[in-house]
Amino acid sequence: MSQLPNCPQCGSEYTYEDRGLFVCPECGHEWSEAQSVEQESGLVVKDANGNLLQDGDSVTVIKDLKVKGASGPIKQGTKVKNIRLVEGDHNIDCKIDGFGAMSLKSEFVKKN
Ligand SMILES: [Zn+2]
Repeated sequence: MSQLPNCPQCGSEYTYEDRGLFVCPECGHEWSEAQSVEQESGLVVKDANGNLLQDGDSVTVIKDLKVKGASGPIKQGTKVKNIRLVEGDHNIDCKIDGFGAMSLKSEFVKKN
């Protein structure tokens, strides 16, 4: 079974297939498979175990991470919900309780 792509318009993961088109229930966008392959060739982000990560995934931090300006590190085992993948060295945008908006490196997390 092939995995459905996220909506290229709003990034929703709750897409489904309907008569050869992909449909996004959140913004109503419809698109064909050919387009989605193009979209998907962009960003490939893998966790510490080599699993592919997607927008909206939940991950766990696998080592203590120092944070500039914070009183303590982000502890190993911290759960992070609803990540967003971005380009660059720190390729995960997320919010962590007690720290606020953060950028993490995908090599320091694993998919839940
Ligand atoms: Zn959408």
